Amino acid sequence: MSRRRQIYEGKAKILYEGPEPGTLIQYFKDDATAFNAQKKGTISGKGVLNNRISEHLFTLLGNIGIPTHFIRRLNMREQLVRQVEIIPIEVVVRNVAAGSLSKRLGIEEGTQLPRTILEYYYKDDALGDPMITEEHIACFGWAGQDELADIVDMAIRTNDFLTGLFAGIGIRLVDFKLEFGRLWEDDYSRVILADEISPDGCRLWDMKTSEKLDKDRFRRDLGGEVEAYQEVARRLGLLPEGADGAVLDLDEARKARKGE
Ligand code: UDP
Repeated sequence: MSRRRQIYEGKAKILYEGPEPGTLIQYFKDDATAFNAQKKGTISGKGVLNNRISEHLFTLLGNIGIPTHFIRRLNMREQLVRQVEIIPIEVVVRNVAAGSLSKRLGIEEGTQLPRTILEYYYKDDALGDPMITEEHIACFGWAGQDELADIVDMAIRTNDFLTGLFAGIGIRLVDFKLEFGRLWEDDYSRVILADEISPDGCRLWDMKTSEKLDKDRFRRDLGGEVEAYQEVARRLGLLPEGADGAVLDLDEARKARKGE
């Protein structure tokens, strides 16, 4: 195995130096954490599925004009991405009450929200990622006014697109988390979508049965984590019908579906 310089190790991913300046390799681990890393575990095969799901969603978002850090998938667990300066904010988009919103405000999980809510959290593990407002973002200079306007636009467009995409495969997009980064080109920077979009950072409920197809299976000890992530990948067309294991390349999956 070649020795690459590790840039950063997070809870679910490792970032390595990329092959060219301005690129990084994002490696997806099977590790899972919840409740600010108080609960730890592994979900065998999760990294492979998240790599594939995130590749698919970032590619589709790129196709509708949302700039992302994704360049291409390299192998089962790695993708090549653009190096960005991470903006230290987690943007949570909510369509349906669940999780911390339900707890904080006493709104029953599953209640459709009359409008989409955007929330911001300051990315700081030691502080437990506290919720913040636009005022804090401006006051502490975490993002400029124009950057924040772009972030809000991209978050809403991403939500509109993904809500429709998932509805088309019988999945309710309850909420999800996005991260953004600053891409520098000479003296000019623009904000692009970074990190990943996968069942680790989304709440995805089956529309008919309300079955959870996301990390809440791990958080709430429901079991069947990998099966749930696989089901999301399968409905997105990323696994051949009836497959219960291997994640194949799209072309292979297509051939398998056609019985070639
Ligand atoms: N989320 C995330 N990372 C975090 C916190 C939240 O990906 O550090 C996602 C989570 O998976 C869910 C949404 O953001 O889809 C809203 O999470 P919530 O605030 O309800 O927190 P939770 O109850 O999951 O801790």
